[in-house]
Amino acid sequence: MKLDTKCIHAGYTPKNGEPRQIPIYQSTTFKYDTSEEMGKLFDLEASGYFYTRLQNPTNDYVAARIAALEGGTAAMLTSSGQAANFFAIFNIASCGDHVVASSAIYGGTYNLFAVTMKRMGIEFTFVSPDATEEELQAAMKPNTKAVFGETIANPALDVLDIEKFARVAHKNGVPLIIDNTFPTPVNCRPIEWGADIVTHSTTKYIDGHASSVGGCIVDSGKFDWTKYPDKFPGLCTPDESYHGVTYTERFGLEGAFITKATAQLMRDFGAIQAPQHAYYINLGLESLSLRMKRHCENAQKVAEYLKNHEKIAWISYCGLPGDKYYDLAQKYLPNGGCGVVSFGVKGGRAATEKFMKNLKLASIETHVADSKTCCLHPANATHRQMNDAELAACGITPDLVRFSCGLEDAEDIIADIEQALNK
Ligand code: PLP
Repeated sequence: MKLDTKCIHAGYTPKNGEPRQIPIYQSTTFKYDTSEEMGKLFDLEASGYFYTRLQNPTNDYVAARIAALEGGTAAMLTSSGQAANFFAIFNIASCGDHVVASSAIYGGTYNLFAVTMKRMGIEFTFVSPDATEEELQAAMKPNTKAVFGETIANPALDVLDIEKFARVAHKNGVPLIIDNTFPTPVNCRPIEWGADIVTHSTTKYIDGHASSVGGCIVDSGKFDWTKYPDKFPGLCTPDESYHGVTYTERFGLEGAFITKATAQLMRDFGAIQAPQHAYYINLGLESLSLRMKRHCENAQKVAEYLKNHEKIAWISYCGLPGDKYYDLAQKYLPNGGCGVVSFGVKGGRAATEKFMKNLKLASIETHVADSKTCCLHPANATHRQMNDAELAACGITPDLVRFSCGLEDAEDIIADIEQALNK
């Protein structure tokens, strides 16, 4: 199937007389005839459902669809994008370990890594998304367990050189984890460029209608954990909490990572996505490729309008010839990046705030990537926990407006920007 078809059909094929649409299994639990059957499920000896905190069929159909779109072998839905990134790392790194991450990432992810996971004993080294191979190598340590970055960084819009990051990660025997929220698999499939694990905040374009918070982790099944058993004991040695199952032996490279994350992390942390939310994000998936085209077309028109505007200090959009990331975008995002444009209004922070206050169609929201045009001033919102030096390291200036182009007519979006700039 081509990608557009996968958005609609992958992961769920109803049999004769079954529901055409993915049904919502609105049930916390599942019934069995004997305790023996239930016991086999608990021992991971049989596959099946027993409690929705770990797995639910609706979630699994939708996860399978996202796995197919990303070109992965297995996937799981999580309650949020935050949970997806936390699980993706905590599944292979624990107290005493180290992770290398791009500094140009979503502020919530930065805080999760730099503050909360640090408190759990996991150390992060942040590197520039533009780091050379030598600089990346210099950040690696003997206890490094993963390298992390965003395909298109929120909100600075840096485009990551995925192949370069994958090369250094693999040379050091660790996987590359890529948060692919902004381009979605419609515009970039990081696994094709060497990424091993892909994460999403499905809250954004995948849902696309600002209706439900959610996340997803996709495993490529390509990283050979068994080559580094000392580095990844959780995947390569018996799990005492599951009667001695060794995930790589029992589930192979294609299933080990997601099975462990389900069996251990979902069991213990319980950050499951509600089946009803999985149903909503599936409705989003069905139109994802159509919507991404329109989001990108609108963003391109807005970026071109702003490019030479006398009241605009600077603009970042990787689809604009001359943009710092134009060449990388041509390679990794040839059909468009995303609908988000970042820019600064001349006059700095105060002018930016005044401009945003005067917008009528575009609303000020702590959100991005849905059908309605919205904008945010990160220095005042998502990234306000950062000092100026940390902001600069993330590529964020105090005047940055993160402008998320929705699905409206581009002329209306531009007219709104124009009247606000005139004020
Ligand atoms: N990753 C990226 C790139 C994001 O933009 C966000 C949220 O904005 C997240 C992760 C966190 O996702 P959520 O808000 O669904 O927890």
